[in-house]
Amino acid sequence: MAFEGLADKLGNAFKKLKNKGKLSEKDVKEAMREVRLALLEADVNYKVAKDFTNKVTERAVGQDVMQSLTPAQMVVKIVDEELTSLMGGEDARIEFASKPPTVIMMCGLQGSGKTTHTAKLAKMLKKQGRSPLLAACDVYRPAAIDQLKVVGEKAGVPVFEMGKANPVKIAKEAIKRAKDYGNDVVILDTAGRLHIDEALMDELKNIKKEVEPNEILLVIDSMTGQDAVNVAKSFNELLDITGVILTKLDGDTRGGAALSVKAVTGRPIKFAGTGEKLDDIEVFHPDRMASRILG
Ligand code: GDP
Repeated sequence: MAFEGLADKLGNAFKKLKNKGKLSEKDVKEAMREVRLALLEADVNYKVAKDFTNKVTERAVGQDVMQSLTPAQMVVKIVDEELTSLMGGEDARIEFASKPPTVIMMCGLQGSGKTTHTAKLAKMLKKQGRSPLLAACDVYRPAAIDQLKVVGEKAGVPVFEMGKANPVKIAKEAIKRAKDYGNDVVILDTAGRLHIDEALMDELKNIKKEVEPNEILLVIDSMTGQDAVNVAKSFNELLDITGVILTKLDGDTRGGAALSVKAVTGRPIKFAGTGEKLDDIEVFHPDRMASRILG
């Protein structure tokens, strides 16, 4: 189960505190040292873990906490609040265009779950009463277009493709078609690569410049931990993304990506992928995720 190791270790640290009754500053610091180690083992970025425990310590050694009747519970509450805020605080939603269609550009490395999540997102929006059109802008792998058509059909959403044409042209044609046919959302499935390279980034930057998407959502695989966060950092520096879709949270991910992405990139996780089926997508709720991590 996701976050299992982290939840266990945090649980142990708090149990020790609860057994103590009244707390000293030293007790809190010792517990926070354990929390920091647990975060690092869960693949949380080093600076993020350090800043996090410093912040909690600062709040927890305050008079009102130390002298309260249930200091350990108050420390756990502070950790809960700070975990929530670390992951973005509020739920982040799609910013829809005031004048349709809303254009959502999906990007990400190969294997992250980009194509699957293009269809998942479309299906979710369709359920909310929208009428999405998918555009096949990954023209390098012939299989990519077919895969998008397959998942599009499963989601009951139309797919626009022009074979191996220029991705900018495909995106623009798709938007035109959406206007003609009354599709209020266009989701662009852009090319993925095994690694970030200049050609990929140039192409994505070009699509961004020409199409001016309302959302640029980066799909990252939570199972890849710190690598996922580094990918997010690079994509954000080059493309100024608007949010992240964190996939494969149904696996035994340790949690590092979920906890570090917002702090490292400044961009929120908007959705989470929780399985291979097209219904396995959720709005990312920082508060619920924090509760899950605290067990
Ligand atoms: P792309 O190369 O980024 O377009 O990735 P795909 O959409 O083809 O997904 C790669 C693999 O990951 C496929 O086998 C998907 O079924 C699987 N996958 C995608 N999202 C999830 C998820 O949230 N959970 C799980 N368990 N598998 C996923």
